[in-house]
Amino acid sequence: MDKRCIGIDIGGTTVKMGMFEPDGTLVEKWEIPTRKEEGGRYILEDIAASVRKKTAECGLSLSDFSGAGMGLPGPVMPDGHIEFCVNLGWKAGNPQQTLSALLDGMQVKSGNDANVAALGEMWQGGGRGYKNLVMVTLGTGVGGGVILNERIWPGMQGVGGEIGHIHVIEGETEACNCGGYGCLEQVASATGIAREARRLLAADKRDSVLRSKEKITAKDVLSAARDGDALALTVVETSCRYLGWALAAVTMVLDPQAYIIGGGVSKAGTFLTEKIKKYHDKLSPMATRKADVVLATLGNDAGIYGAAKLVLG
Ligand SMILES: [Zn+2]
Repeated sequence: MDKRCIGIDIGGTTVKMGMFEPDGTLVEKWEIPTRKEEGGRYILEDIAASVRKKTAECGLSLSDFSGAGMGLPGPVMPDGHIEFCVNLGWKAGNPQQTLSALLDGMQVKSGNDANVAALGEMWQGGGRGYKNLVMVTLGTGVGGGVILNERIWPGMQGVGGEIGHIHVIEGETEACNCGGYGCLEQVASATGIAREARRLLAADKRDSVLRSKEKITAKDVLSAARDGDALALTVVETSCRYLGWALAAVTMVLDPQAYIIGGGVSKAGTFLTEKIKKYHDKLSPMATRKADVVLATLGNDAGIYGAAKLVLG
């Protein structure tokens, strides 16, 4: 029997874990809190203890597994080395080596969480059937991951796929989280869409259902746009135009088969993806065979799927 493997997705508040069959079947899924005290020194120990416990519960031993994969919130070098993981309190080190030692030498592989989620979507999600794709996660920020020939492309220093920080807006005066000005994230993330709506409400005289909201969220903007609110629709078109612009630039470099759109904002569905595709297609005239723009399907589980796939290769 082919051995099972473990997928681990380490986030700032919880660690999600999954036990997988080699064919991609998720057998067990569980999570533990992320203990960030003392520079996050207990996180890997907690994970190892939890993996051992779950393994025993299933009547298995560590040698029954082909390995464990891990998604980390920060840049990860190809050998698993990290310089820092701000959200976990980690400084420079090699967490995959550390976890391997805690699991009796089990094979452990790791990657950046956004890249790993992209791999998961390629394997068992919205990206099934594609070998070359770029995932864009529209959440509080805008994350991304590049998959070339079914492998993560992390780049020289791990910033490969940081689509959210492609510069698209000239003259932006507010700073982005990365320190830059005018990043895609500032206009296309959930935060960015809400901010864009506030700006337009102040500058535009048109009536809008958004004027009655005390605190505008991206969800409000998207549902108002869907209901035909002209001002909200302007905001959504602006965000999708910048997204389409950035993806068209990506197309001219990587020419992927598909873009997979995930994250909370993507709950707006094809209403959103069709607009992104409209602008992408318009802005990439040389690409005669247009990339598909499709929705992610694994939600918060994309990370554990991709982490498992890291081990399976
Ligand atoms: Zn930025």
